[in-house]
Amino acid sequence: MKKLWRCGVCGYIHEGDDAPNACPKCGAPKDKFTQLSDGEAEKIYISDRTNDIHMEIINLAGRIAALAQEGIDIDLDPPCVALFKDAIKESWVIKQRSKAELEGHMKRGKW
Ligand SMILES: [Zn+2]
Repeated sequence: MKKLWRCGVCGYIHEGDDAPNACPKCGAPKDKFTQLSDGEAEKIYISDRTNDIHMEIINLAGRIAALAQEGIDIDLDPPCVALFKDAIKESWVIKQRSKAELEGHMKRGKW
């Protein structure tokens, strides 16, 4: 497993044999970085793909809402408009459910 380092100022995670000279996010110097334990690093690696999937689902939910809004704007007939309104509500639930799960991952170091 590769070494991971966390910026003590902003939380950015760097991957490499050594900490970076400056944080790519906030510019903090190298001495602000601490190496993560193997256990902490493993949590980040094992959750990486799952977090990506949640983010893609969040993006897709946004696309569903945008498509449904287009359908509402076209206004072909009342059943279509009702269905599109439901789709917007449901896409919100899908999006917020994944966001809540990601928030939990961040609090537990799975990020
Ligand atoms: Zn930083």
